[in-house]
Amino acid sequence: MGSTLKPQISVVVAGALGRMGAEVVRAVHAAPDCELTGAVDNTPGKEGVDIGLELGLGELEVAVTADFEGCLCAASQSVRKDGAGNGAVLIDFTHPSVVYGHTRAAIAYGVHPVIGTTGLSPEQLLDLNEFAEKASIGAAVIPNFSVGMVLLQQAAAAASSFYAHAELTELHHNRKADAPSGTCIKTAELMEELGTKFNQEEVPEHESLAGSRGGRRASGLRLHSLRLPGLVAHQEVMFGAPGETYTLRHDTIDRSAYMPGVLLTVRKVRQLNGLVYGLEKII
Ligand code: NAD
Repeated sequence: MGSTLKPQISVVVAGALGRMGAEVVRAVHAAPDCELTGAVDNTPGKEGVDIGLELGLGELEVAVTADFEGCLCAASQSVRKDGAGNGAVLIDFTHPSVVYGHTRAAIAYGVHPVIGTTGLSPEQLLDLNEFAEKASIGAAVIPNFSVGMVLLQQAAAAASSFYAHAELTELHHNRKADAPSGTCIKTAELMEELGTKFNQEEVPEHESLAGSRGGRRASGLRLHSLRLPGLVAHQEVMFGAPGETYTLRHDTIDRSAYMPGVLLTVRKVRQLNGLVYGLEKII
């Protein structure tokens, strides 16, 4: 028995009782190559409850705990360190106020962080990359786990070589405070990479209602943000040329859409050294 290695990837989920975390627990539980070994959440009154029973998955013998570091410590000790790419993985969907500390602690414990929580600054990302490289640990910070969105962005970037007119629209639920979305800005940046100037005015434009034409970037690209209850997360890139329009659209209808990207990252992160930012670097 002594030399048998568990085939599963040992996974700790932080924020396990949250909207994204609960979906991740279900996806990890359903993945044949993953084993849920820890569930961290600080929701009052939930300490010690079985995460499987709590989420309707049946008993998983994994108790919810608020002790993040204790959970990392147990995960790192339970994994045999006799081969590269054999470490435990932390998936974090908690809160921007704790994500930096969580990521640093995971690296310190030799646990590979897969971070979905938003809010890490460019300086913090640089620092975490340096720390992960020194520790020879692979880490991934993925602001959007949607594979479909990455495909849309790649197609939009490719089409920008051929179309000089384009407008971007992002649509979200009306509880989203910031606009435009970070993902929409990323799409615009990718479209601008070849230095294309968009939307040269053919007539002098005048807005009788300020903001009607959306936000204009230095490249000339215009970004529009719609907020309505009932929407989840959507993005549309529309190109125009004489005699045609070309529209790319992605709709996230449910949080389960993020799970293939989460699992791809979990499988890849143990082969990395240092920090990778963005799902396009994983797929
Ligand atoms: P949520 O509020 O539903 O869930 C967060 C959970 O984390 C809660 O259960 C909370 O109790 C727990 N938590 C918070 N701080 C904690 C701490 N210090 N220790 C332990 N548990 C803690 O939020 P959500 O909608 O699931 O989103 C979580 C994060 O993920 C946000 O930053 C959000 O922007 C981000 N997000 C990312 C993606 C992506 O694709 N990367 C997609 C959706 C949401």
